[in-house]
Amino acid sequence: MRPEALNPLFAEVQTLEGVGPKLMKPLERLGLGRVKDVAYHLPERFVSRRAIADLDEGAEGEQVIIALTPVEHRSPRAGSRGPYRVLAQDAKGNICALTWFGKAAYAAKKLLPVGERRWIAGRLDRYGDMLQIVHPDHIEVESAANMGRLSEPVYRLSEGLTQPRVAGLVEQALGRLPELPEWIEPGQLERSGWPSWREALRLAHEGTDARARDRLAYDELLANSLALLLVKAEGRRRKGQALVGDGRLRAKLQLPFALTGAQARSIAEIEGDMAQEAPMLRLLQGDVGAGKTVVALNAMLIAVEAGKQAALLAPTEILARQHFETLRKMLGPTGVEIALLTGRAKGRERESILMGLMDGSIQLLVGTHAIFQDTVSYRDLGLVVIDEQHRFGVAQRLALAGKGRRAPHTLAMTATPIPRSLTLAQYGEMDVSRLDEMPPGRQAIDTRVVAMERVDDVVAGVERHLASGQQAYWVCPMVREIDGVPDLADIAAAEARYAALKERFGDAVVLVHGQLRAEVKDANMERFVSGQAKLLVATTVIEVGVDVPAATLMVIEQAERFGLAQLHQLRGRVGRGAEKSVCLLLRGSELSETGRARLALMRETQDGFRIAEEDLELRGGGELLGTRQSGEAAFHIAGLDQVQRLLPAAHADARLLMERDGGLTSERGEAARLLLYLFERDWGVQLLRGG
Ligand code: ADP
Ligand code: MG
Repeated sequence: MRPEALNPLFAEVQTLEGVGPKLMKPLERLGLGRVKDVAYHLPERFVSRRAIADLDEGAEGEQVIIALTPVEHRSPRAGSRGPYRVLAQDAKGNICALTWFGKAAYAAKKLLPVGERRWIAGRLDRYGDMLQIVHPDHIEVESAANMGRLSEPVYRLSEGLTQPRVAGLVEQALGRLPELPEWIEPGQLERSGWPSWREALRLAHEGTDARARDRLAYDELLANSLALLLVKAEGRRRKGQALVGDGRLRAKLQLPFALTGAQARSIAEIEGDMAQEAPMLRLLQGDVGAGKTVVALNAMLIAVEAGKQAALLAPTEILARQHFETLRKMLGPTGVEIALLTGRAKGRERESILMGLMDGSIQLLVGTHAIFQDTVSYRDLGLVVIDEQHRFGVAQRLALAGKGRRAPHTLAMTATPIPRSLTLAQYGEMDVSRLDEMPPGRQAIDTRVVAMERVDDVVAGVERHLASGQQAYWVCPMVREIDGVPDLADIAAAEARYAALKERFGDAVVLVHGQLRAEVKDANMERFVSGQAKLLVATTVIEVGVDVPAATLMVIEQAERFGLAQLHQLRGRVGRGAEKSVCLLLRGSELSETGRARLALMRETQDGFRIAEEDLELRGGGELLGTRQSGEAAFHIAGLDQVQRLLPAAHADARLLMERDGGLTSERGEAARLLLYLFERDWGVQLLRGG
């Protein structure tokens, strides 16, 4: 049971004034379901604005406040997804477009009557030869005092929310923060000059106070370290079962290839763990295509040889099916019974699988989370394999499932390369096996960095490439977004590139980006996959599942604007067939030192691990390779640089607390329990109770 002191924080967001059913969806999309989520919705950045008398005074890209008088409303053509524009003029008669996408346009209609002067705050941009402000942050009748504020928080939004709206909710949420006892070690607090928890949250919304931000990040890291240590302590108490296979089933596998050194090593590590009584908690890391499946199969067969069952948990129905088919083929001559169980299995089919699991006639089970429902019971489950550990802590929690019985061994698999120094933070004290060697025969992708000025040569190269019968991708960046709406300049760039290439290649080229209607997008994609179209111009929306072996050239425009993770992922779309593949990274002329080094790294290596390690070195911050996109990030508050800076201290702090007060019963221990609940690491606390 959660301590009462935290109730105001865990109250639903509807309890805030002004939150009705209409706001629920946009808030949910941001993960803001409870008061505490709102309080922890920290500003992405702060803007400074400048008040200008007329448009001539403002610079492109600048945040301004200006008085404008609407002269004309322009609705998008019926059926088109174009924006809603209001043309407005300044004191000198210069015209500026105020632009809205989607439903946000309602605001424009009400707030900007023609002929009535309004104060507008927002970022000045260029659209063709006109100035524009996309989704103004504020529209006021009089130049309200808050518009003049020099620095103002900018929150991440979703459609249906505005900055003032979110700021108002945050204000309310902050007003509800209870006073909580201190959980950070007093010495640490003093040395760093950190404010109290409540004060830190206030400050973090008001400005760029590094100490407040650090304190909040430290809280999260401390909670995480504590929970992991609690799990570890519990693991030491629990017994698993030592499983030793005799190799008879593995010997019958007829694989069309020899294992790589890395695969053999990983299997040996797993075999060693499973032979111990303590339950295995191991993570298998390997880039896409590294060959994780056959490692998992070997682990599962060890369990079966030892007379136990094994289960493989896949993140989606499609992947579960794919795994099931692959494994069934590989198992062919072994006579091992394998079944597939997903949410779709109904009636008699489901019954018979459940029976088979109970009586042990089904030895291997593949499925989605359906395989761990209460209604599913195994005769003797010896191993659980989790493909793509989606949420942090899944493996830990599963390993602890079915308390009282002997714990199964757990193997988690992930394709996200994570720097060594961060695996502790991300995966706790799991042991790690790495597939750092690709199966042979995978083609190296010839990667080159080319200056944008040479784009004509590149287009000529694409022409030769297509003439030889192969296909190609041309990727344009769509990185910048304004309030969840893609930047017009980016769309314009992709459209313009498409138009230029179409002039040259005609129907052989198709366009795919996120602003196209779904049917159009799908149809265009289909034409490329089927080979009718030869050149695909796309933003980063190229689906992860896209597999076109005949596509052997990839051009990435303004490559410096992409994260290395994205570049690594994008490049993975080529090099899938027998032909040699090429990746051209087009760079702009104003490239920073770091930008240069990052592109050079892409040219040099295809090793996801190395890219992850060096990206960390180069940037020392920013997003962890691939994790944000895959929703796998362990931390919401702590950024990468904070993890690096503060984790060692937080970990040591947690360890010390556990040594002195493993049951968390002292005054500080009680405070730490609150912290665990606050960051939803309550599985740690629950161990204490049952323990
Ligand atoms: P992952 O799950 O790590 O992305 P898979 O297990 O799906 O990778 O393997 C990718 C492909 O490589 C499969 O077609 C698989 O049969 C093949 N493969 C795996 N191991 C080897 C190997 N040692 N030698 C050659 N091919 C291999
Ligand atoms: Mg796989």
